[in-house]
Amino acid sequence: MIYRNMSILTDVTKCIGCDRCVEACRETNHLPPDKPWRWLRNITDLSTSRWTTIERVKSDAGDRFARRHCRHCLEPACVEACIVGALQKTPEGPVIYDRDICIGCRYCMIACPFEIPRYSWEDRVPYVQKCNLCYERVKYEGKLPACVEACPTEATIFGEREDLLREARRRLATEPGKYVQQIWGEREVGGTSVLYISDVDLELTDLETKFRDETPVPLRTFKVLHHMPEVFVEMAVVMGGIYWVIERREKLAAERAAQAGEERGSASPDQEEEDADAADSGTTNGPKGS
Ligand code: SF4
Ligand code: SF4
Ligand code: SF4
Repeated sequence: MIYRNMSILTDVTKCIGCDRCVEACRETNHLPPDKPWRWLRNITDLSTSRWTTIERVKSDAGDRFARRHCRHCLEPACVEACIVGALQKTPEGPVIYDRDICIGCRYCMIACPFEIPRYSWEDRVPYVQKCNLCYERVKYEGKLPACVEACPTEATIFGEREDLLREARRRLATEPGKYVQQIWGEREVGGTSVLYISDVDLELTDLETKFRDETPVPLRTFKVLHHMPEVFVEMAVVMGGIYWVIERREKLAAERAAQAGEERGSASPDQEEEDADAADSGTTNGPKGS
């Protein structure tokens, strides 16, 4: 099937927070298990091992769950900001990333209004990571995105953007007392391919952005960003340097610990004899035999 604008609609009223979408994404994209890296606030934050995560939405009506991942903006600021074309908006809709072209400047991370792209600081050659809407899986294998396929409640569904907008409007009209009369993603920042409907206000969460109006972000960010290449290249060098120093220190500490262990394990025969004598005379610090 040829898609014009692959999209996802998440209905917050149906999400039970089971994390099956998170695990399906991890498995399909061969992402590693979560680790509590020092640069993460919470292990469940979006990260290089979590291209999608579940946000808890607090409200007077009780807690809700909403899935967070790349919104595949119709006019993506990350694509505009990438000076080498490592991020691309495909004709079918998903915004995809080519790590072989990426130079690690991280403009995309600064430009994204939803704070989505993550940087793999843990890798020797770090690169950017984010949801790709299972582009290849959908386009070449004819499958659903892994997260959508795994969802047991159909809280998150996949299709053409226009069809999903129609479905969202239908639900809002059928149960006007249940839903907030808004489709998140329909117009903000020029519109996104990931849409949400909900019975509580999602503007209370990180899902929303300070860019609430309909102006595409690239129009606002480009003027600023195109004056900044030197600054960010310098920043990239400095951050890379800091990372190298930290990693080097940790490596040296591990080597020293291993060396100390080896020295203890290979004490000289004379030293062993002295230790045995000391043990016999009951002068060691260890426990005495019974
Ligand atoms: S949400 Fe951010 S990373 Fe995703 S397409 Fe939009 S600007 Fe790019
Ligand atoms: S569409 Fe694919 S890459 Fe994106 S969150 Fe779902 S499973 Fe992960
Ligand atoms: S699999 Fe479906 S119900 Fe479970 S957390 Fe993900 S979106 Fe919600």
